[in-house]
Amino acid sequence: MKTNNYFIKCFCFIAGLMVTISCQDEESLLTVEPSQKLDTKMVELITQDGHEASDIYIKDDFYRVRGSDIMYHKDMADNLLRNNINEEQRWHGVQTYYSHTRDIRIYKESSFPEYLYGGPLYYAAQHWSNISPNINIAITNSRSNADIIVSGYYDSREYGWAVASLPTGNGNVGSWMWINTYQPHNQSYGDKVGLMVHELGHTLGYRHTDQGGGYHIQGTPYSDGSSVMNSGVPGGLWQSNSAGWSAGDKQAIKWAYGLY
Ligand SMILES: [Zn+2]
Repeated sequence: MKTNNYFIKCFCFIAGLMVTISCQDEESLLTVEPSQKLDTKMVELITQDGHEASDIYIKDDFYRVRGSDIMYHKDMADNLLRNNINEEQRWHGVQTYYSHTRDIRIYKESSFPEYLYGGPLYYAAQHWSNISPNINIAITNSRSNADIIVSGYYDSREYGWAVASLPTGNGNVGSWMWINTYQPHNQSYGDKVGLMVHELGHTLGYRHTDQGGGYHIQGTPYSDGSSVMNSGVPGGLWQSNSAGWSAGDKQAIKWAYGLY
């Protein structure tokens, strides 16, 4: 099975960084955001997913975790409590309403690196739209009508190529995706498509197939090297005109959204 060597190298590099500079990194982040206090309920929610509390920090409206591309909206814990949703799930477990997921609109801010991901994002939206009758994702020119905002940012302290937020627990999909332009983004075009499919997968509620926390979706394999929702997206599986879903991915989509 082909894997993306860059991802592997990147993750090894990340692991090394986390070991060697974790204290320094934490200190610098705390310096940047001195006034932000972590909400106990949010920390509990995120550590239940297997993350270390010391890796959690706030950026804008989101709780982020160093070394992870998954973001948690700051309102998630309150929404989960209010809606009495069980959060012990690898499938995110936060309800998204089909009435919303049948009409997901993405707005690209000017900071979005169109030259890198404009095409791949378009094709990723097509792949999701083509796999399930309850998912339709399109690009919109209206920010006020958008469900997902995609932006670019430059941050040498963050390891991933992109981050995306999980659904917030109010029926909508996760509302933000960021591309870190600090990273080289030198993977193939098809692998960029795969990365965008992966990040949109987080906004639809999917977590990482190969990591703990969450809920195991019935019928999916416990280990699936071809899953687009692995933490290191498998390389060489996606193209603009052909989808690279694994059998397990399809099972997970069938379980949550239904398949065509
Ligand atoms: Zn991810």
